Amino acid sequence: ASDCDDARRVEGEMARMAARRNRVIRVALVGNPNCGKTSLFNIAAGAHEHVGNYSGVTVDAKEGTFEHGGYKFTLVDLPGTYSLSAFSPEELYVRKSLTEEMPDIVVNVVDSSNLERNLYLTTQLIDMDLRIVMALNMYDEFRKRGDELDTERLGQLLGMPLVPTVSRTGEGIDRLFDTLIHVYERKQPPLCRHIHINHGVELEQSIARLQALIKQDQGIRYKYSTRFLAIKYLERDKDIETVVEGLPGREEIIATRFEEQKRIGELLHMQLDAALVDAKYAFIQGALKETYVPAASGLASRRTPTDRIDAVVTNKWLAFPLFFCLLYLIFQGTFTLGNYPMEWIEWLVGEFGGWISTYMADGMLKDLIVDGIIAGVGSVLVFLPNIMLLYLFISLLEDSGYMARAAFIMDKIMHRIGLHGKSFIPMIMGFGCNVPAVMATRTIESRRSRLITMLVIPFMSCTGRMPLYILMAGAFFPRCASLVVLGLYVLGIVVAVLSAHLVGRFVKEEDLPFVMELPPYRIPTMKSVFRHTWEKGKQYLHKMSGIILVCSVIIWFLGYFPNHNDYDTVAEQQENSYIGYIGKAIEPVFAPLGFDWKMSTGILSGIGAKELVVSTLGVMYSGEGEEGAASAVTGDTPLQRALLRTVTPAAALSYMVFVLLYFPCIATFAAIRQESGGWRWALFSAVYTVCAAWVVAYLIYRLALLWL
Ligand code: GDP
Ligand code: MG
Repeated sequence: ASDCDDARRVEGEMARMAARRNRVIRVALVGNPNCGKTSLFNIAAGAHEHVGNYSGVTVDAKEGTFEHGGYKFTLVDLPGTYSLSAFSPEELYVRKSLTEEMPDIVVNVVDSSNLERNLYLTTQLIDMDLRIVMALNMYDEFRKRGDELDTERLGQLLGMPLVPTVSRTGEGIDRLFDTLIHVYERKQPPLCRHIHINHGVELEQSIARLQALIKQDQGIRYKYSTRFLAIKYLERDKDIETVVEGLPGREEIIATRFEEQKRIGELLHMQLDAALVDAKYAFIQGALKETYVPAASGLASRRTPTDRIDAVVTNKWLAFPLFFCLLYLIFQGTFTLGNYPMEWIEWLVGEFGGWISTYMADGMLKDLIVDGIIAGVGSVLVFLPNIMLLYLFISLLEDSGYMARAAFIMDKIMHRIGLHGKSFIPMIMGFGCNVPAVMATRTIESRRSRLITMLVIPFMSCTGRMPLYILMAGAFFPRCASLVVLGLYVLGIVVAVLSAHLVGRFVKEEDLPFVMELPPYRIPTMKSVFRHTWEKGKQYLHKMSGIILVCSVIIWFLGYFPNHNDYDTVAEQQENSYIGYIGKAIEPVFAPLGFDWKMSTGILSGIGAKELVVSTLGVMYSGEGEEGAASAVTGDTPLQRALLRTVTPAAALSYMVFVLLYFPCIATFAAIRQESGGWRWALFSAVYTVCAAWVVAYLIYRLALLWL
């Protein structure tokens, strides 16, 4: 049987070879002037074109044919260009021949001793959505200088195989053509994939708008990548202008570009085309920073201001201390600066409630407005300044270019927990509010990393949990309250890290590598900082006007009915309301954690928003403590005194832990559903976080019982 198999295999191989013989692979050589295209062409095709050392020698394309690995190759040596805009006849010629001749594969010849500049052309080839293999030429000189490059990693990031070559001697040429065959036969899927250069949120929005308009023409996409057309059109490329403005939606397209130019000009204080070039270099910088170590001697030459700042900011020893100092300053600034407006808002809310109480006739409507809406929404509104400030700082860091470096610094650590450097920014934002944090995961290209990040963000302790910490840590652990709060933050991070490990096993998505762009440092414009701050803060406001309002009313309703007028004290009335029934029904679930039915009810309402835990407790315990009007202990609130009487410190601790970890509030849940594209991961997150919270809170409770 095995003889037979062998015979069949040989036969199959023969047939494949025969089939190949008739097949022609058409290859175009594209690269900067003097990168060695003609030399490569000559050594491969055996031709003897004149090899020159100045640009412009190759005026038009030379074509040559030869065989390799059973295939016939047609090789076209195109003129050297730095870019694919329509500025020079060479550029236009190369672009025309790429779109019109449609070679099977493009060989991007790159002078490896000048990667940064050469890769600029590569980013444009990527925009054109071509199948590319990169010849890392002049590799002899590269080696001699002692530079180091992780070619495999760079290939992964760029979505194309990289083959080192020396076209003067022919070294690596065979491997180059073997690789071409592999790519042609699609045998190398992981390295050959289509990536998008990420131009940053703002520019990508411009590109997407135009691309959508261009795409309305069905025919165009067979000839051009619509993304390429959109980008080139935004760059005001004359040649592409005639193509795009010949489309049916002409007027709208022209108007859209005008709008986008204006928008970007105001936001970034620069022209759209310049911004696009910058973004491409940011991509190249990011890709090289991860893969390329130039020999020490090459470093001293031509350092830009960005290089100099980077030398400090990403320095091996300084990076982390600097970063944590910044974080500390931000959190400190958020709380101290945020305190003033917080007090004003607290005062305003109080006045407003008081004013309504005085001037409105007694009755159900008044109770609803004062105890339900004003108390509920007001308790959340108070944190708005804190959150806005945090976002202001984060936007400043983002727009100045520092955040990209922070992501870079954290990348190695984040990889160790199965995440990506880019996951770090959303996680930090999670300390403000989880909702915009989940939205911010959009910048993570790999779906796997994005999903995992989304699922661990709810463990980042958002400001919504702060009121409970302040209430309980202040009441039960007055001497070490801030330590307890810090401990809770750290616990959240630890659970997030462990969860990233664990959840990673359930996320079956493929993990595709991507570049972390490193834009140049820039002084942020006021307009863009405020816009970015506002965009993030809007989510929070939205949450308040929607979910928190509705939940406050529901909780008030459940606590008010039935039997509102049948009891003398609020406590009795609460106990015999719907909320009392529900709280008692779920009490057994939480009894092992030390919570009574009132605390359990707080947990329930916290599903709406974690701020509601405190407002619910406030209502639940409001009948509890007012027997002696003035307590001897000053600074304590009535609610704190009431809690101290009925709750043990161990239970308080486990309660804070549970609230920290359990169900991401409804708004976050909705955000996860939206961003992950379905219910599945949102439900997973809900179940997972509740289980995690129960287990961790139980352990903490038992441990605390031993000590406290
Ligand atoms: P083109 O402008 O891209 O066609 O580049 P050419 O093929 O004309 O080469 C430009 C110069 O680079 C010539 O002097 C070549 O001899 C030299 N060159 C080409 N490939 C290599 C290489 O791999 N290593 C080295 N050291 N020099 C090379
Ligand atoms: Mg040439």
